Amino acid sequence: MGVNLYELERVTAELERVGARRVLVQAPQGLKTVALQLADGLQRLGFEVMLSGSPCWGGCDLALNEAVEVSADAIVHLGHKGFVKQDVLPVIYVECRYDYGLNVEQLIGRAAPILKPARKVGLGITLQWLNYLERIKLALESCGFSAFYGQSEDGRLYPSQVLGCDYATAKSVEKEVEKFLVVGSFFHGLGLSMITDRPVVVIDPETMRVEDITQNAKRVLMQRYAQICAFKGSRRVGVILCTKPGQKREGLASSIVSMLRNAGKDAYLLVLNEVDERLLPDDVFDAYVNTACPRISIDDQAKFRRPVLLPGELMVALGLCSWEEIVSGGRYFEWSIRDGRG
Ligand code: SF4
Repeated sequence: MGVNLYELERVTAELERVGARRVLVQAPQGLKTVALQLADGLQRLGFEVMLSGSPCWGGCDLALNEAVEVSADAIVHLGHKGFVKQDVLPVIYVECRYDYGLNVEQLIGRAAPILKPARKVGLGITLQWLNYLERIKLALESCGFSAFYGQSEDGRLYPSQVLGCDYATAKSVEKEVEKFLVVGSFFHGLGLSMITDRPVVVIDPETMRVEDITQNAKRVLMQRYAQICAFKGSRRVGVILCTKPGQKREGLASSIVSMLRNAGKDAYLLVLNEVDERLLPDDVFDAYVNTACPRISIDDQAKFRRPVLLPGELMVALGLCSWEEIVSGGRYFEWSIRDGRG
């Protein structure tokens, strides 16, 4: 994938519109080469360009602090749709959607036997594949399915778009469908499967793999419940407050500290930029509560030697919310996508 001429022209026009000459280009790992191409193009046009070498995990992970440190006038951010509310610097998003000869009919042909006997299918799709949404819907319909896709109530997502922590579009059509089909990755399918009682089938268009992920999600939920039980015996708890703009939930982290202290635990705010197992000492804290990206707890728990609960899981541990409410009620990630988005 490369940056096409249209995108370079659009980015240039946007940078000129905001009066930026010194630019920080930021991209997730898989798009660093594209970032380099874009940087070359912008440099040729006279911009002073720096590349962010830090990891970038999502649209939540804007390199605002880095950009301020190096006195950039603007950020060009690749691979995500903007959803972080901020007024620090202009940010120009380049979504980098895939647009090559994906054989949609073949893909849906593989998914159809796994989706059947369901007829009504809810569609979730990641940003990279969104240009194929209509063709996927048509291919499903030509196989005899009715395809549904929903919206997020405030427009923070495109119709049908899913993030690893935000499935508002899919949840909005849940009552109308018998199964979900997620086009993108197993990571995204797993997240949806954790918060719906409908079976979830995932297609990874890059590998052409198709799988029903429902049992995997059940296993993950059982492991999460075990972490909740393990958390109950903890005494000293670190409450993670992340400094990434779209993951920084100061109000939530502070109220969790108070809640834990009221429950008789020693609780401390722990401020981090990257939530990494090397930075969470198991000889200092017995457990953690993670107000940053919820997928760190879900996907990386095995790397940590202590429970790293999500806010909703903490509510269950403290008896303030039932397990059914956060799972079947679809509230698992609810606390982790409040603040700073929209
Ligand atoms: S919080 Fe995590 S899952 Fe959500 S957008 Fe950011 S990186 Fe992705």
